[in-house]
Amino acid sequence: LQDVTETRRTEAVRRDFVANVGHELKTPVGALALLAEAIEQAADDPEAVQRFAGRIARESDRLARLVRELIDLSRLQGGEPLPELLPVEVDDVIAEAVDRTRTAAKAKDLEIAVGGHAGLVVRGVESQLVTAVTNLLANAVAYSEGENRIAVAARARSGFAEIAVTDSGVGIPRKDRQRVFERFYRVDQSRASSTGGTGLGLAIVKHVASNHGGSVAVWSEEGLGSTFTLRIPLAAGATEPLDAH
Ligand code: ADP
Repeated sequence: LQDVTETRRTEAVRRDFVANVGHELKTPVGALALLAEAIEQAADDPEAVQRFAGRIARESDRLARLVRELIDLSRLQGGEPLPELLPVEVDDVIAEAVDRTRTAAKAKDLEIAVGGHAGLVVRGVESQLVTAVTNLLANAVAYSEGENRIAVAARARSGFAEIAVTDSGVGIPRKDRQRVFERFYRVDQSRASSTGGTGLGLAIVKHVASNHGGSVAVWSEEGLGSTFTLRIPLAAGATEPLDAH
């Protein structure tokens, strides 16, 4: 009986997921169709054509990101065996993630400060760790404005590297705080769609954390900002800086 209930629940989750994906794809695909039509009708107005073409580029970016994230997520949760866990330099992960977020940050006049302990080494899959930290930084940028500050810092604590991404942006209301890690969950649909979000970024971070035997936690206060802390086990034999506690 337990098994039947479990199977039904899994099926319901899968049905929900497929429905969500369908819904998420519908919006950009519909927009692209309308924009193509608009271009056809504006053929003798080069400025309008230019404007519509820009919007087509943005919508297809969003579509590409959604598809990429869906593939990431299905790999991460699909029960595929995790590639071998190797020593990974946290500094390299952070540098690459900052690099990937730089253009978006610059477009909003935001600086990303890097701090904390140098030289930490974790056991992991570098590409997954880069994806996770990039998603956290991309959110920090998306939910902040020019005068806000963004920082990423690593430290060692009780056998884990803690990578904290802090912003002084809009923050997350208490009632939504734990749910933000669910697939497709967004605090505010209108706010999220204007940032081009997919609602998958934090679900991906959570899967990366659990694949590594780690965790991810959030501290946030509405109007003050948010800190997301990713904890990943330090590599065996990696030394913890003495002032880490
Ligand atoms: P999205 O692609 O919409 O950003 P995520 O899974 O990355 O999806 O995040 C889920 C939701 O959590 C976001 O839509 C947003 O409402 C909220 N959120 C995530 N990070 C932050 C942040 N740093 N500041 C404020 N809200 C955030």
